[in-house]
Amino acid sequence: MLKPERLSETFRSLAATSSVSRREGALAFDLKQRLQMLGAETVFDGSAAATGSDTGNLIARLRGTCEVPALLLSAHMDTVQPGEGVTVLFNDGVFTSDGRTILGADDKSAIAVMLEALNALNEDRIAHGPIEIVLTTCEEVGLAGAKNLDFSLITAPYGYALDGSDTEGLIVQSPSANRFEISVIGKDAHAGAHPEKGINAIHLAAKAMADLTLGRIDQETTCNIGWIEGGIATNIVPPIVTLRGEARSHDEDKLQAVTDGIMQAFEAAVRGYKGVQNEDGLPRLKTQVHRSYSRTRIPGDHPLVELARRAAANLGRSLRTKISGGGSDANIFFEKGIPLGILGTGMREVHTTREFVRLDDMIRATELLVEIIRQQSEA
Ligand SMILES: [Zn+2]
Repeated sequence: MLKPERLSETFRSLAATSSVSRREGALAFDLKQRLQMLGAETVFDGSAAATGSDTGNLIARLRGTCEVPALLLSAHMDTVQPGEGVTVLFNDGVFTSDGRTILGADDKSAIAVMLEALNALNEDRIAHGPIEIVLTTCEEVGLAGAKNLDFSLITAPYGYALDGSDTEGLIVQSPSANRFEISVIGKDAHAGAHPEKGINAIHLAAKAMADLTLGRIDQETTCNIGWIEGGIATNIVPPIVTLRGEARSHDEDKLQAVTDGIMQAFEAAVRGYKGVQNEDGLPRLKTQVHRSYSRTRIPGDHPLVELARRAAANLGRSLRTKISGGGSDANIFFEKGIPLGILGTGMREVHTTREFVRLDDMIRATELLVEIIRQQSEA
């Protein structure tokens, strides 16, 4: 039997243990012990050297009571800032912080749900296949934990990431994303004495920006320039300005077109510059485009979708497949050939100090997870 009291206490304790990205070590050690108490074997991978975290990803393996392929369950241990010294409040069935920090329900509600599900499996002697639990670091900083995960430790063909809001939704599709950095390089000069010797990089960047379409490009494509830095002083013609942004789309061709369009707007602004052209070929651009993650697309008849639907139906619930506008660890697993559907735990207003989660929603998420595990063992 699922025990709401215990689930509540587990969540409270996890949320109170600070684990901002790259400092997940204390939480990871606590989780390792909890998982071992539940009968799992645990191992940390060697990703810490690459991610800069104080711990590797935590991988736990629970032996099955029957011989079916392993099921993968994943969540991330890290949180965004402000996430240190979280005071967990619980009123009217709702967990919040005291308003000074995030709560960390993203993604500790998921970890609490998994632990409660394992408790229920043990206590009720529910038949289950092998379960592989992957708790990553550094999800919130570019999915770095998952990107550096030792996939040789994983045998499961598919599974679920618990990292969504909607307890009646299963995310099966998410976009590809590029991030980019553009530096417009002009030339410095005294703004009062010799402005004609300078090339104003901020002015050029502004011209390029003014022609861009940002925000929602279409139903499946978005784009943002979210950071800008440049200039030295009011009396110096600015020699350089740097901008950073991102583009996302469920369609690779559109993503490419949007990314190219931004680069072309800056190239046009630089080419169209009329004024001092010195022998260094100024003004000029320095651009970098990186792939952040690639899209996921899990077909509606994939076993993981059917398994989750069957489990929900057994509980008298519906489960909608959904499309997400964001990337997560699941994108990296998908790239590695391990599709993960994303289940919700009820977490809301994540990445803000208003973040909250209802205990009832975590209970619903646990019930669904236990039923998924039970159903999988009968497949
Ligand atoms: Zn998350």
